[in-house]
Amino acid sequence: MSFSTFNLNPALLRAVGDKGFEHPTPIQRLAIPPLLEGRDILAAAVTGSGKTAAFLLPILQALLSEPRGKTRALILVPTRELAMQIADHLKDLARHTSIRGAAVYGGVSPAPQLQAFRRKVDLIIATPGRLLDHLRNQAVRFQDIRYLVLDEADRMLDMGFIDDVRRIVSKTPVSRQTLFFSATMSADIRRLAADMLKNP
Ligand code: AMP
Repeated sequence: MSFSTFNLNPALLRAVGDKGFEHPTPIQRLAIPPLLEGRDILAAAVTGSGKTAAFLLPILQALLSEPRGKTRALILVPTRELAMQIADHLKDLARHTSIRGAAVYGGVSPAPQLQAFRRKVDLIIATPGRLLDHLRNQAVRFQDIRYLVLDEADRMLDMGFIDDVRRIVSKTPVSRQTLFFSATMSADIRRLAADMLKNP
């Protein structure tokens, strides 16, 4: 199977080729088609499985077919390292498009993050704590979010971010598409997923 079977935008297919990806990984094969149809998904996927491209490619495909000028995708992650890693992956996969993202995390000056909100970057990749600070300060609003990713949800739960995550998610429109990734599937994770996903 090749990536061309997904009917992706040529700019995305080119970027996939630039990265040297020849065949989709199992999580990409399983997740990309329902995501392109607009469905929610609940995925058990570990780091190294190719999960990042599994959610970035369908989101990029959707963003490319819609009007620009609004922040339409939010990716929640447990750590700054993961946020930076996803931002890099995004830069690679979006390199032949004008789609832009910003990583938002704690321990650094908020100024460039505020600028990214004002510029209405297409995607925000954020850790819950710093994002909630911005939300409290009314520096960011989520009324235009159409795509919400929870990446490494089990780690966010283990790190005590559960209330922050619930608070952030409650500020996004219910009409969103939600993509839920976790390495493990405990009862707590299933409960959280059940509250956030529609017919995954
Ligand atoms: P991830 O699980 O998303 O952190 O990805 C792990 C690594 O696999 C990253 O270095 C990706 O660039 C790489 N990767 C993702 N998808 C593919 C693919 N279809 N073929 C080869 N490598 C891939």
